[in-house]
Amino acid sequence: MDTYTVAVTSVRQITHDVLGIRTEKPDSFRFTSGQATELAICKNGWQEIKRPFTFTCIPSDDYLEFMIKIYPAHKGVTQELSKIKVNEQLLIGDAWGAISYGGPGLFIAGGAGITPFISIFRQLATENRLAGNRLLFANKTRADIILEAELNHLLQTNIVHVLSEETSPEYKIGFITADLISENIPPGSRKVYVCGPPPMMDAVLAYCRQLGIADTAITVEI
Ligand SMILES: Cc1cc2nc3c(=O)[nH]c(=O)nc-3n(C[C@H](O)[C@H](O)[C@H](O)COP(=O)(O)OP(=O)(O)OC[C@H]3O[C@@H](n4cnc5c(N)ncnc54)[C@H](O)[C@@H]3O)c2cc1C
Repeated sequence: MDTYTVAVTSVRQITHDVLGIRTEKPDSFRFTSGQATELAICKNGWQEIKRPFTFTCIPSDDYLEFMIKIYPAHKGVTQELSKIKVNEQLLIGDAWGAISYGGPGLFIAGGAGITPFISIFRQLATENRLAGNRLLFANKTRADIILEAELNHLLQTNIVHVLSEETSPEYKIGFITADLISENIPPGSRKVYVCGPPPMMDAVLAYCRQLGIADTAITVEI
């Protein structure tokens, strides 16, 4: 597996606890929308500590981009990344991952689980192929929603926000349910893409099975 050293070119606050980090892109680097890489910080004591993060840019961009939720309590890589500055370096490996677009369907994301879908939606938008896809996006509060304006713009009426800790008009309240999944599967499609924290994944996959959606129609990170 190759390792690439890339300099940070920009850091921007996406939500109160998510950073958008862009880096240089090595000429030979290739990935497909939905894939991730092992990332480490190129700094004494941190080079060997790798964590997986997903590309949110699209393959034709001339930079790499990540949206990274910071967990200060873990005192790990994400806390260290919260201090990263332009021109500092990161180490990344080759792209890998099971999530890729396989046709129109229902995307179900929880929190930072939206990251593979950001790249997929951005790519589909450039190809004018977003029609027929729908997103159920679960977060605790509106302030936690990553790229809300961009996703609303891309998906128009095909996005449903679900908030578990805030009541707000036009947002569904609570958690994702079997009914919400069944009501939002786009007509003619039984394909479901799921990415989120483990408890959400367990619940959503159980609902999908209850609804008779075949395992072969479900795309998840293994
Ligand atoms: C394929 C894949 C793609 C991913 N893509 C993204 C992405 O694009 N964006 C994103 O934000 N995330 C993504 N993640 C999740 C991301 O990898 C983790 O959030 C990240 O690894 C956390 O790293 P960390 O070193 O900060 O903390 P961790 O590795 O979670 O924790 C470091 C240490 O902190 C301690 N610890 C763990 N939990 C707690 C706790 N609750 N309280 C106190 N201490 C604790 C443990 O001792 C642990 O060893 C992805 C995960 C996978 C598997």
